[in-house]
Amino acid sequence: MADADIRLIPCRSDNYAVLVHDPESGTTLLVDAPEAAPIARVLDETGWALTHILITHHHPDHVEGIAALKARGGVTVIGPHDEASRIDGLDELLNDGESATIGPWAVRAISTPGHTSGPLSYWLPGLHLAFTGDTLFAMGCGRLFEGDAATMWASLLTLRQVLPDETRIYCGHEYTQKNAEFATSVDTDNAALAARRKEVEAARARGEPTVPTTMRAEKETNPFLRADDPALAEKLGLVRAEPADVFAELRSRRDVF
Ligand code: ZN
Ligand code: FE
Repeated sequence: MADADIRLIPCRSDNYAVLVHDPESGTTLLVDAPEAAPIARVLDETGWALTHILITHHHPDHVEGIAALKARGGVTVIGPHDEASRIDGLDELLNDGESATIGPWAVRAISTPGHTSGPLSYWLPGLHLAFTGDTLFAMGCGRLFEGDAATMWASLLTLRQVLPDETRIYCGHEYTQKNAEFATSVDTDNAALAARRKEVEAARARGEPTVPTTMRAEKETNPFLRADDPALAEKLGLVRAEPADVFAELRSRRDVF
């Protein structure tokens, strides 16, 4: 399999869309469609013909570009079965654990409810690549709009268990700097986290994205993936608490941070 060409495309105020292109087959996959114009611009510049769109969840800032991009022709739109009634323009649906073949790649759907009720994260093991939408962010996680803390914690645990450390993870938003500030406020003597916060601040000062991250970096520095770490629970004053309760405390503190 040839190397894929990956383009991170800033959209709206802080959204990301990602294009993955296979030069051999011409397959061009878009993950999420926050708005059409910036994505169409990259397609026009590169000459890539869009063949597939994967949608993580139903929120407008992830789907509003679908119709205009589909109008270019030859595009198959794939999304979560459990949110199909709330997303216009889906051609194929996936459930938890199902796989799709997109050009040369196998794509596995992983159900990760919490931010919304039925979103999917997508894993392309052959490319060591995953897309987590608004579930797992770099050093953070999505807000709980349609699920409770235990549900989101279970989703994050699934990602932590399934995705190998070297997986490059693309998330739906550039929230990393604020997430890093919050993470260092609760996880006060984590050297890896302190170092990463400095890197993130430097990257943002240069106007560079902080996405993708890796599962290895998230395991080391993302407090929301470490709600079962007794040392972190202790820092929150929650000695011997259930991980889901530690997660709930982290999420509610982040909501007002
Ligand atoms: Zn969202
Ligand atoms: Fe979003």
